Amino acid sequence: MNVSCACCGITYEKEPGFYQGAMYVSYALMVGWFVITWAADSFVFKSETWQYLTFVISTIIVFMPLTFRISRLLWLNFFIKYDKNKTNCK
Ligand SMILES: [Zn+2]
Repeated sequence: MNVSCACCGITYEKEPGFYQGAMYVSYALMVGWFVITWAADSFVFKSETWQYLTFVISTIIVFMPLTFRISRLLWLNFFIKYDKNKTNCK
């Protein structure tokens, strides 16, 4: 991850350990994923428990790099607002 934005110069890491809060965002995303897949499995697919758990756990592992980055991005956007007038980039 870059230290600061190349366009507006804003520092991405506000303080040491800033992104520890992204763990809670990641947790919320995964709970949402569990609930959505559980509902789909319970009402539509009706698969066995081991099949459901295999699907959920494998998808979480496969999408972990994406979830990691999305969580950090969401966490950062709680604290830094986009300002289109600050940019130096076109
Ligand atoms: Zn910027």
